Amino acid sequence: MSCIFCDIVDGIQEAEILFEDDSTIAFLDIRPLNYGHSLVIPKNHYENFSEVAEKDLHSVIKATQFVTNCIKSSLHPDGINIISNNGSAAGQTIFHFHFHIIPRLKNDHFTFRPHFKDYSEGSMKEFADKIRSEINSYKGK
Ligand code: AMP
Ligand code: ZN
Repeated sequence: MSCIFCDIVDGIQEAEILFEDDSTIAFLDIRPLNYGHSLVIPKNHYENFSEVAEKDLHSVIKATQFVTNCIKSSLHPDGINIISNNGSAAGQTIFHFHFHIIPRLKNDHFTFRPHFKDYSEGSMKEFADKIRSEINSYKGK
């Protein structure tokens, strides 16, 4: 499997690379929500978060924290969002797993808090039970 992010890893596609190690690469997003918006990806191609192998996940998370801290100390944003879109319904457009690191400014006027729902009576426990039973089925495996 290959994609535009694999091409960046292979040096076929240009990118403003910020950080690279054996298994991870970070570069500027070409269409930033704010200047300095960066992406961190495993060099190996995985479609989404669920598929990333443990060793690559560890490196990607470490690199994401490192690049986040360097963005903080170099650009001094008021805040930072670290997000990952998984699946087209969630806004994923490039199907090579990545974390977005998005510097935020007090007055940048966009929000990731569009509409909150309320649980109906008893339904919060129902949702928790569904997830817990899946988690419990993995225990001891
Ligand atoms: P997502 O929608 O979460 O899959 O994010 C994909 C991101 O990749 C978008 O924010 C795009 O702006 C960014 N993007 C797409 N092509 C490139 C590229 N060639 N170099 C850097 N960023 C890119
Ligand atoms: Zn890829």
